[in-house]
Amino acid sequence: MATAEKKVIKTEDGEEIERLRAELEKTRMKLDILLDNIPGGVFSYDADSGRIDYISRGVLSIFQCTEEQFREHYYNSFDVFVNKADRAMVKEMIENQISFFDTVELTYRVKDMTDNIMWIYHKGRLVKNEDGSRVFFVVISDITTEKLAQQRLAEINEKLYMETERYKLIEEAVDNTQYDYDVLSDVLTTSRKDEEGNRITISDFKKKSLYKAIINEEDFASFKKAMREALKEQKKGVVEYRAKTEQGEIRWYRLNYASFEHRDTVVRVVGSEKDINEEKLRDEELKAKAGKDGMTGLLNKTTMESKVAKFIKNSNKESCHAMLMVDTDNFKSVNDNLGHPFGDEVIRFVAGSIKDTFRESDFVGRMGGDEFMVLMKDTTPVITMERAAELNRKIKRTFNERDISVGISASIGIAFFPEHGKDYDELYKAADGALYEAKEAGKNCFRVSKGGS
Ligand code: GH3
Ligand code: MG
Repeated sequence: MATAEKKVIKTEDGEEIERLRAELEKTRMKLDILLDNIPGGVFSYDADSGRIDYISRGVLSIFQCTEEQFREHYYNSFDVFVNKADRAMVKEMIENQISFFDTVELTYRVKDMTDNIMWIYHKGRLVKNEDGSRVFFVVISDITTEKLAQQRLAEINEKLYMETERYKLIEEAVDNTQYDYDVLSDVLTTSRKDEEGNRITISDFKKKSLYKAIINEEDFASFKKAMREALKEQKKGVVEYRAKTEQGEIRWYRLNYASFEHRDTVVRVVGSEKDINEEKLRDEELKAKAGKDGMTGLLNKTTMESKVAKFIKNSNKESCHAMLMVDTDNFKSVNDNLGHPFGDEVIRFVAGSIKDTFRESDFVGRMGGDEFMVLMKDTTPVITMERAAELNRKIKRTFNERDISVGISASIGIAFFPEHGKDYDELYKAADGALYEAKEAGKNCFRVSKGGS
């Protein structure tokens, strides 16, 4: 019974061993299938000598070679497998990682059978055997494509960073305010920063007509016109305007802008705004110094007076000169109906018409508001009246804007030297009197002084 029992036990042992062996075989098969099918490959090597032991089919398919070729090419050594340039780094990293964990993770370069550089991702586990040997089991995959893409991305990032830095430097150096308007989302971003140093972003920029509160009323029309044009089609332009600073001061600015289309629609407008206040003031000062009226470029009142007075004083009684006083009719209604900026345009139109009518050598000046003076040198009454009539024809105009039409014309008073005055004051009085007569006669005409001196 005892023997029989023993035998049974023996048999059971044998069966158990058989069962374990079969199970082991099954597991090994599963492992083989697994090793051959995981993305990448698996190999093992002796941690101390670097000698490669096991090589899976995955490894061979990465390098597209046979096991013999692989072992021969790398002298069957993990150390040789790693590209020379990365060997020291790999050694150091493995040592470092293994002193903390029993796994390592790294990337390095290898040279394939045809000496092409490949990037390898390497994840290894250190296994200590009972006999004291230490073996690394490693899963590797080919990450060359990803690495190259990553490198390209890093290069692009680097370039982008440099560009951004350069852009920021330029932005800070030029002291201009940059604007970037996204048309579709109606968001304006400016280079100005808030307290936290972030760029200021304004939403619903156009919808809320926020610029209306900032741009000076007189320059609003020209600003809006520029904006309308920029939004209509791709174009570059410049507009000058006065605007309120954050402190409420009104200063002159110049905006250089450019709009960009995408599929026939303007999607972005970028601009650079420069403070030109000093420039403008200097310009006006220079004009004043040169005796010019800032708005029309004609002589200003002071210069006109002194030039005409001096000329008359030096004239002999045999010569004939004519002084014409020109005043725009109904000018106030232009301002009232079409706005002050439009009124300015009309003043420039009248000034231009006068300048075009007379000779270069004649004196033409703006005496204030819508009033002008002309001094025709060495003329005759007939020529003078012809010129006056011509001027009347030129200035008679109707302006149509936004369904409103406003008509203007000119009244002209004429006085001759020496007949109506022997000096500036007398002539001026006579010409002004004649202008009054022309207005009284119903405007849009000229009158010659009736007085005499
Ligand atoms: P009249 O037919 O009798 O000449 O009358 P008017 O409406 O032309 O008015 P008047 O000549 O008496 O006044 C000229 C107005 O022009 C007064 C002022 O409001 C306006 N004005 C003066 N300087 C400027 C300017 O630089 N720009 C503009 N837009 N208006 C001006
Ligand atoms: Mg007038």
